[in-house]
Amino acid sequence: MFALIKQLDNMPKGNGDWTISRELTAWYQTNKRDLPWRDTDDPYIIWVSEIILQQTRVAQGMDYFLRFVSRFPDIASLAAASEEEVLKYWQGLGYYSRARNLRAAACDMAERFGGHFPVHYKEVLSLKGIGEYTAAAVVSFAWNQPYPVVDGNVFRVLSRLFAVDTPIDSTEGKKEFTRLAALLMPPSEARLHNQAIMEFGALQCLPQNPACPTCPLVCKCMAYQAGNVRRYPVKQHKTRTRDRYFHYFHIIYKNYTYLHRRSGKDIWTGLYEFPLIETDAVADFAELQQSEAFRRLFNHAGRLTVAVSHPQTKHVLSHQILYAAFYRIEIEEENEALQSYTRVPTDEIDNYPVSRLIHIYLEKG
Ligand code: SF4
Repeated sequence: MFALIKQLDNMPKGNGDWTISRELTAWYQTNKRDLPWRDTDDPYIIWVSEIILQQTRVAQGMDYFLRFVSRFPDIASLAAASEEEVLKYWQGLGYYSRARNLRAAACDMAERFGGHFPVHYKEVLSLKGIGEYTAAAVVSFAWNQPYPVVDGNVFRVLSRLFAVDTPIDSTEGKKEFTRLAALLMPPSEARLHNQAIMEFGALQCLPQNPACPTCPLVCKCMAYQAGNVRRYPVKQHKTRTRDRYFHYFHIIYKNYTYLHRRSGKDIWTGLYEFPLIETDAVADFAELQQSEAFRRLFNHAGRLTVAVSHPQTKHVLSHQILYAAFYRIEIEEENEALQSYTRVPTDEIDNYPVSRLIHIYLEKG
């Protein structure tokens, strides 16, 4: 890899030898998607779109983006909103820390930068939830500053083009790929080049089935020439997942139900959910009834009528697989345990931000 970087370093770029970048941008002009955050240099809009598109496909993120910027069109409106409202607009997108960080960064900009987006890369990087990739995207797309973007698409394209074996999830890999990306980017064309290479990774050099036969870089692609495109990008760690077993109780008392707001460092911080019992393994309703947690929850609640129960469904998150069951239970008395929950009129439950898992349950009815 270092030999490659040295070789690229010695290329006569000052004389305009940006062949790869030229081919990427030519491809981009013909193939780019028409996206609402493309034709703007407003750093706020670019930032929101980049945060939404982390971990989210364009097709899924589009409606969220349009709703979000329609309700929060600028830093001031986002900083003035409650965290709960911002989470409600994010409901269903997952990775909710992104929404909390967006609002926190907007408040920070209101305080530290007079409500404006900072122009300097280091200042952008100092905002909550903004890493090197997002900072580079904002300053290059908004102001054409010469910072290379290195996201999953760029890692993939570069690792294949140059057959780079360094794992992309290693510190060394991150440094080397960033250096390589910088060497390929004409400094005066940062905006166009960065957008082009990202779009190329998203549409042409796909993770599973790259469209090599129609690729403008096929003659230069070292992985293709060696016949081992699938080998790249190299990763050192496989993601480990953890199984969890959730049992939700949709408790009905008169015209009310009960929610609580998740806190701490676990998933879905700030979102609301029904009373929950988590077990270490699969447990059916009879087993739950024997547990201490169930007794505490329903002690002195009178007769329980299990009206509807949804059997276990599988809900996959990035590092966890949740097996969740829902029980709709009518009670006769509001006991002491339930007084620590938020009592919500059943027809107002939609006003509360909830996880996608609970949203799907409520939709099913
Ligand atoms: S030839 Fe295939 S693997 Fe190589 S850059 Fe083009 S699409 Fe990607």
